[in-house]
Amino acid sequence: MKMNDVTKQHRNLIAGEWVESADVNENRNPANTDEIVGLYARASKDDAARAIAAARAAFPAWSKSGPQQRHDLLKKVSDTIAARAEELGELLAREEGKTFAEAKGEVMRASQVFGFFAGETLRQTGDAIDSVRPGVEVMVQREALGVIGLITPWNFPIAIPAWKIAPALAFGNCVVIKPADLTPGCAWALAEIIHEAGAPEGVFNLVMGRGSEIGAEILDSPEVDAVSFTGSVETGRMVAEKCVAQMKKVQLEMGGKNPLVVLDDADLDTAVNCALNGAFFSTGQRCTASSRLIVTAGIHDRFVAALTEKLNSLKVGDPMDGLVHIGPVVDESQLEQNRRYVKIGQEEGATLVCGGEVIEGATPGHFMTPALFTGTTNEMRINREEIFGPVATVIKVADYDEALRLANDTDFGLSAGICTTNLGHAAHFRRNAEAGMVMVNLPTAGVDYHTPFGGRKGSSYGPREQGQYAREFYTTVKTTYIQA
Ligand code: NAD
Repeated sequence: MKMNDVTKQHRNLIAGEWVESADVNENRNPANTDEIVGLYARASKDDAARAIAAARAAFPAWSKSGPQQRHDLLKKVSDTIAARAEELGELLAREEGKTFAEAKGEVMRASQVFGFFAGETLRQTGDAIDSVRPGVEVMVQREALGVIGLITPWNFPIAIPAWKIAPALAFGNCVVIKPADLTPGCAWALAEIIHEAGAPEGVFNLVMGRGSEIGAEILDSPEVDAVSFTGSVETGRMVAEKCVAQMKKVQLEMGGKNPLVVLDDADLDTAVNCALNGAFFSTGQRCTASSRLIVTAGIHDRFVAALTEKLNSLKVGDPMDGLVHIGPVVDESQLEQNRRYVKIGQEEGATLVCGGEVIEGATPGHFMTPALFTGTTNEMRINREEIFGPVATVIKVADYDEALRLANDTDFGLSAGICTTNLGHAAHFRRNAEAGMVMVNLPTAGVDYHTPFGGRKGSSYGPREQGQYAREFYTTVKTTYIQA
């Protein structure tokens, strides 16, 4: 099914109106670069300023609209996404490159997120307590923050916008979102759904375009009260600096170099499947990818042999082909980065056991076979820097203590996993892994939508996303003292 009319310009949504642009982005399919997925309007700086002003104007009414209206809007969005899951899954697979099954799963996740936050509008919390001063009562309530700027990456083009937009709207904020320039299609489809579900004018605004222009406009505007960003560490650091300088509330989700520890006593099949899924599915383009496989000596050779055999049997190709396991890399520059790191790994003395080759598909696309390095040390660049592709390394260690030490010896701290049948090691790892999320006998990637998401060190900054914890970022607390 080809869903997009490629002559139609998908416009920005500003103050409840679809606004055309002279600058049009050709969104291309990474599995077939001859194919244009759709034409998307790049907003001007003026467009972004108008979107922010519209959000500001809509805020007083929306923040006082009450939970029922917000619940109904989010519920409708959730239901519509689910009803359109096939079509949106195909759009996602065609613009980002993950397999249709993964893409449809991501679309369903976006629906679940909106469903969860529809419920959160009604599950309000607060305190009514006695003051230490007799006759005085104290109320503690959460209120909306104001205008929230959302800046999102390309690798989860519907789920990440969803898990920022849904809580922002649920708690009574107005939104201006700038999705990644590389994958505007899913964010546009989501904007259409939110608009058609009846979001009042200005409550939700979409401005597509380049980070350096439109993202910068959001960061610099004094009318934006808070910014939630997901993307690379480099951009995130700059976002934080700008926000802090203006005293905007800021939340950052950034990169990872996530360890998966495999101990001698692990169930081999479980460990291999965790590594395969965590490191290579979604073409390794996940912030939670298991890019460092830290394996104890007793199981090392069996683990490497079994994982290599599985990797060699994976089919790389068109994400819409049901037999394909790994879709293309998202674009030429990411492919170049992956190739560069494969070369760096070889130059550093690591052994490339399999993959790492750019291959031709049936159509012109960015296809690369999944690469596994052995004989690596934790000091190598391939173990310190985020590659963000289908590339994983094996670090051989003597025992659990060394494994834990190396797992924590990283600038990142998003997700960390362990495969073991020893309850003591599992429990110790859970308490001592320096990561925001810990997985025991599970892949480092793959999380729930009703639980907090985020990390430590260079991976995250500010309050957690998702689940009930999302309210920490999307609300502000007011304490009222009342003497009757
Ligand atoms: P990126 O930092 O290049 O871009 C992210 C967003 O920031 C995009 O919308 C981009 O246009 C915008 N941007 C770029 N320059 C900007 C500027 N000067 N001002 C304002 N906005 C600007 O990241 P990416 O390549 O899109 O995404 C990949 C990265 O995202 C990886 O590092 C990955 O680990 C990370 N990521 C993290 C999580 C998480 O939750 N921790 C989830 C997904 C992806």
